[in-house]
Amino acid sequence: MLDIQKIRADFPILSEKVNGKTLVYFDNGATSQKPQVVIDAISKYYQEINANIHRGVHTLSQLATDAYEISRGKIQNHINAKFSHEVLFTSGTTFGINLVANGFTSLLKEGDEVIVSALEHHSNIVPWQMLCERTRAVLKVIPMNEKGELIMEEYDKLLSDRTKIVTVNHISNALGTVNPIKEIISKAHAVGAAVLIDGAQAVPHLRPDVQALDCDFYVFSGHKMCGPTGIGILYGKEDWLNKLPPYQGGGDMIKEVTFEKTTYAGLPFKFEAGTPNIAGGIVLGTAIDYMNEVGFENIQAQELELLEYGTKRLIEIEGLNIVGTAENKTSVISFNIKGIHPYDIGTIVDKLGIAVRTGHHCAQPIMNHFNIPGTIRASFAFYNTKEEIDAMIEAIKKAVMMLS
Ligand SMILES: *Cc1c(COP(=O)(O)O)cnc(C)c1O
Repeated sequence: MLDIQKIRADFPILSEKVNGKTLVYFDNGATSQKPQVVIDAISKYYQEINANIHRGVHTLSQLATDAYEISRGKIQNHINAKFSHEVLFTSGTTFGINLVANGFTSLLKEGDEVIVSALEHHSNIVPWQMLCERTRAVLKVIPMNEKGELIMEEYDKLLSDRTKIVTVNHISNALGTVNPIKEIISKAHAVGAAVLIDGAQAVPHLRPDVQALDCDFYVFSGHKMCGPTGIGILYGKEDWLNKLPPYQGGGDMIKEVTFEKTTYAGLPFKFEAGTPNIAGGIVLGTAIDYMNEVGFENIQAQELELLEYGTKRLIEIEGLNIVGTAENKTSVISFNIKGIHPYDIGTIVDKLGIAVRTGHHCAQPIMNHFNIPGTIRASFAFYNTKEEIDAMIEAIKKAVMMLS
């Protein structure tokens, strides 16, 4: 079991005061907090080895390049990719999805189909709509049931030889649903379609094994898993990455440039134009080391306890309705209180030091499905406690009293 007080001491922000109250941070679905080792690693990079990578012969450039590539290897190992050149550094999930959606432009023709799900973040909807506009391919949507689970029989009906790519999230940011991605992937492969998994909301809770999943692409952001903002990963199978054209042109992604013709560098550099977020890439490795030290089994056990306890306490509140009650669910609780706008609750509990998210959570189609403007979302991380949940419940009760 985790020594929660010891873990909490790793995160300096957790002892900060907000509005004069001790911070209760339940907006982990938007971004996680950072442990001291991650904060220190950022300064250490700039203090000791800052230099541009892959270019210089000088010592610092070598040190920075080595640290960056060692981190790539760590991430390869973490997600069990076959080759390190299948692990591309990006600025985040959004960039990774856009890279793949853009790359599919030349592979699709009119009448081809792209399948997304009803549970997606806008990041995993809009780039595919733009792709469909460019190519006149058709966007299809796997519907969900009232619990917020994808309806797999409907997915079966959507699949055909017109399906070229299926793109779904591993875990829903708005409702916490864990999707049956293994089944989704194998069924897509059976009709010859590629699969992209948006893992942004999964990597804070579990260690994906991209070879066991057999997905073609897996994308995530560093900032939701204890790492810095502005860094993320696109995993792609070697064959697919060779098939896709470069996304951006510039330095570092070329082999030879003349005004007549440019040849591109091999993987992974073909997709990494320009000076990257070097510190971010290195420190993402530090964040992953930290999470592995805590241990994903411990993380899951703690979060499951918080999910169960939080659910039990919240439904004690009169008129409170939980949105998203999937059987297989992570530590995200979205809810509404009868007759009260989510924003009003969020504003009042913030004054009491409680950080929750309110709104549509970048997933408007989900809110439309349930016919609501938005929800209040409490998303727990392994460093949260039951005492913090108690504080949230008290704050919500106060807010309800003030508003009704
Ligand atoms: C956060 C999130 C994204 C977008 O990630 P960025 O870091 O903003 O690029 C996409 N999908 C899901 C499921 C998310 O939770």
